[in-house]
Amino acid sequence: MPAEVITSPANADIKLLRSLALRKYRRQTGWFLAEGMRICTEAVQLGHLPQRLVYAADRPDMPGLDRLVAACQTGGGRALPVSPALLGKISRKDNPQMVIAAFTMVEAGPDSIRPDPARCWIALDRCRDPGNLGTIMRTADAVGAAGIILIAESCDPFSVEAVRASMGAIFNIAITRLDEPDFLAFAKDWPGRITGTALPAAVDYRAADWGGPQIILMGNEQAGLTDALAASCHQLVKMPMQGRSDSLNLAVATGLAAYEWLRCQ
Ligand code: SAM
Repeated sequence: MPAEVITSPANADIKLLRSLALRKYRRQTGWFLAEGMRICTEAVQLGHLPQRLVYAADRPDMPGLDRLVAACQTGGGRALPVSPALLGKISRKDNPQMVIAAFTMVEAGPDSIRPDPARCWIALDRCRDPGNLGTIMRTADAVGAAGIILIAESCDPFSVEAVRASMGAIFNIAITRLDEPDFLAFAKDWPGRITGTALPAAVDYRAADWGGPQIILMGNEQAGLTDALAASCHQLVKMPMQGRSDSLNLAVATGLAAYEWLRCQ
């Protein structure tokens, strides 16, 4: 029998999904939202099963929906047809995706940061902007990085904005956190190279040594790297700035460094 279409914002599952816009409720539930058929399907292919899945009740014939619903139910989750208006309320967008799902947040422990010459790590000092963080996750995935190390207090990688900007990469890279003293202690024993990017650096990023296990270390959007983090680097590199701007956007700078690392592999 087809499931009953949910139209009321007072429905308990809808209230729970809407609450995931806030970090407090993501922490309470351990869940976050991902939107769109392609991203949810890729998540399932990578072994992440939706805890809740809502889909446009007027589009029951969407290709792939059956498999998503089955994956959700296999994992003990609930798949619910909802009115288009409710999809808009959950996503807080005028043009919502036809499918929205809640997945379990997965973070890797710091012991997952292992040296691998074929897979760099990208470390971010106090990243504040979820759009930057999502874009960096997408770039990390694109270059085949092992994952992202969030140093000190960071914006939430599982916020709706970061997940949207990651375009599904959040399901395919490790995310781990270290506070600054722990990163500095870890850096002392890291058997590879830590390459920091900084505006005052002397070395052009195209002349740097990108061989061996690498951590690419990026500074905060406003303040750059702390002195202690900069001192932990084996090399500090810069991207030349020829115009009037004094710096590149963090995600753009990360993309340049990460692709230079990839080019040198
Ligand atoms: N006012 C900040 C500063 O003094 O570092 C600007 C920070 S910038 C928006 C964010 C980060 O992106 C920097 O900390 C650095 O890691 C990287 N970055 C941006 N432009 C760069 C450049 N031209 N060369 C090297 N790193 C750069």
